[in-house]
Amino acid sequence: MKNLSQIKELINQLSFEEQEQLSEYLSECQNKHILDFQDIALEQVNSCPHCKSIKIIQWGNYKGTKRFMCKKCNRTFTPNTGSIFYHLKKSDEFIKYFTLMFSEDFNSLQSLSSRLCISKKTAFDWRHKILISLGSKSPNFKSITEMDGVWFLYSQKGRKGLKYSRKRGGSRRRGDNDFQAKVLITKERGGVSDMSLLKIGRLSKSDISRKLSQKFEPTSILVSDKHSSISSFAKSENIRHETFTAKNHVKDKLWHVQTVNNIASSLKTRINYWLRGVSTKYLQNYITWYAIRDKYKKSKEKVKNVITDSISNRKAWDMFTNIEKLYKDFILNHSVRTYRCPTKEQWKSQNWNLENAKLGIYL
Ligand SMILES: [Zn+2]
Repeated sequence: MKNLSQIKELINQLSFEEQEQLSEYLSECQNKHILDFQDIALEQVNSCPHCKSIKIIQWGNYKGTKRFMCKKCNRTFTPNTGSIFYHLKKSDEFIKYFTLMFSEDFNSLQSLSSRLCISKKTAFDWRHKILISLGSKSPNFKSITEMDGVWFLYSQKGRKGLKYSRKRGGSRRRGDNDFQAKVLITKERGGVSDMSLLKIGRLSKSDISRKLSQKFEPTSILVSDKHSSISSFAKSENIRHETFTAKNHVKDKLWHVQTVNNIASSLKTRINYWLRGVSTKYLQNYITWYAIRDKYKKSKEKVKNVITDSISNRKAWDMFTNIEKLYKDFILNHSVRTYRCPTKEQWKSQNWNLENAKLGIYL
């Protein structure tokens, strides 16, 4: 078996005509994969996306895919209803976009739009459509689990109509302040993880509970520094909690948050330097991007795994079309910042459900 770089070398030795034939063959192969994705969607159909009833029957075809009918609410649906593949026009390009997002390192919108012949606006929408569909419920933690926070400056990058000029950056005040978007990283050593944007400003016990209540099994041990909110969270959930003081933070002892600190610094590099800061509205999406890449980094079928995760999220379309409302909800309920200059509704004709979207995103 030859590896990819050896194959590339061999391709370089082919004539122009042979390379043309090869290129045709490759696009045939890719089309086969795209058909596979329709099958993945079909496999996921086990209940009605509208009312969750399992009394469903086949109901003919719709635009080349199977259609189903729910015997409880009498509504019809396809394997794509509710997922981000719903209403999709350029499915071949979309699958390629998906593949590039998870098989290569960070690509700019400019490079994606020219490689796939799509507009920059489409490239931006697809990025967030994909990422929002991958945000998921927190897993359960069973063994030694580290927890620590990381913060990013509150940013309104890209928001139009703001009167003051400092859209990003916010306050340069030192210490814990109301301009810091707090992300909590929870990581079981050698296992599952959760990374969530929870608050702008000081993190409290209720912020942690909102996302992680009932997620620690009796066998788990929570490790953190002496952060009072984490301590009271652990107490209220009856979790064994081991702490250390920052001064006595020795690397080879058992109680440390070295794993989480490594994740935090790599996340900071990506967001603050590679992306040159992101709008707080999209911060959770970019964190999800990092988390998913990490989750599947050893998998040989990365893209297939990610697409399967995405297709099975039947609240994704609700989440994507309500992205501005979800942001507004977050600013009003979990920060002391003021919600300003709403972006225009792009999807006004759709009767998509904000409550459904909230269930999906856990802000
Ligand atoms: Zn139904």
